[in-house]
Amino acid sequence: MKKIFVIFLFLINSVLIFAQEETPSVILRVAIFNNLPNLEISSPEICRIKNLSTQEWLAVISYFKKEKVYPLPEGIKIGTQIFNTSGIRIQPLKAEGEIVINGRKYRGEIDVLKTEDLKLLVINHIELEEYLYGVLYHEVSLHWPIEALKAQAIASRTYALYQKMVNKDRDYDLTSDFYSQVYGGRSSERYRTTRAVKLTRGKILTYKGEIFPAYFHATCGGATEDASELWNINLPPLKGVKCDFCYQSPHYFWERFISQKDLRERLNAYGYNFSGKILGIVPQERNLSGRIRKLLIITENGKFAISAKEFRHIFDPQVIRSTNFEVELEPDGAIFRGYGWGHGVGLCQWGAYFMAIKGYKAEEILKFYYPGVEIANY
Ligand SMILES: [Zn+2]
Repeated sequence: MKKIFVIFLFLINSVLIFAQEETPSVILRVAIFNNLPNLEISSPEICRIKNLSTQEWLAVISYFKKEKVYPLPEGIKIGTQIFNTSGIRIQPLKAEGEIVINGRKYRGEIDVLKTEDLKLLVINHIELEEYLYGVLYHEVSLHWPIEALKAQAIASRTYALYQKMVNKDRDYDLTSDFYSQVYGGRSSERYRTTRAVKLTRGKILTYKGEIFPAYFHATCGGATEDASELWNINLPPLKGVKCDFCYQSPHYFWERFISQKDLRERLNAYGYNFSGKILGIVPQERNLSGRIRKLLIITENGKFAISAKEFRHIFDPQVIRSTNFEVELEPDGAIFRGYGWGHGVGLCQWGAYFMAIKGYKAEEILKFYYPGVEIANY
């Protein structure tokens, strides 16, 4: 019996060595779930489990049948088994194997880590190209022209590689939400988006030979933003361009009403202390792209200035969709009318869509939105 087990382990290792040789070398660490009290895991594959504290392989599980995972003071509990560790790695033995977490399928390997406050952090170790298969569906429409999808694939690949480079001392390279770029794992893969990734395999953008954060956003509303207006980034490809392509985007113009009560409550929740009515919200300073730098809020008992970036954050970036807006005060609230959706830096996705419709190639689209860049292989 023991002999059979040893042969079995030898076979598993052979399969793994073979699988590793076939896998390209760039592996990303994507935080796919954070702060979970528990989770549900399943897999149709044979998986093995590693103790991340000791680097020992703990168990081989023939397949997971929807097991609940809990963080406990003494370790991590999977189903009825408690592993005495603060972190485990789950690895399908087959290179193409998948693990299902809370109903979503993932390629690659999964780390389940117990945090200090007894929550779970889940990190997907995923090869860069396979990661992109699960990104594009969320960032652009799979029905878009292939050249627009290819441009997005190259921008997303560049962005991810840059994040890997700058986050190497952190616990993970990217999150799976809109703070990085949205990633839905294998459940989000579609034929046309995967094709765009395959057609651009290995291709990234560089400026003077260096990789840079190739930001993108839904619609610029007429001009893309200089990254230095938002972050500490001063790079020629991210200085902003005039965009005549996105004016037919469904996100070109937006309008939202916010009541006096909501305005007061939200601002006060962020430490602005006033009780009376708001009498005016006045854009004070606009930058070259037309976006507001500073707003003056005039209330019955005083006035204060706030950056438009912070204002957008306080009122939800999905509500105040850009910092390029006008305000009209009404007796019971304010109407915000603005242009574009997103921070506005880098590639304008709807601009890319209309460029592709007009016959521009992915490379031309990218060189328009990121002036001075080259397309290189990583
Ligand atoms: Zn645009």
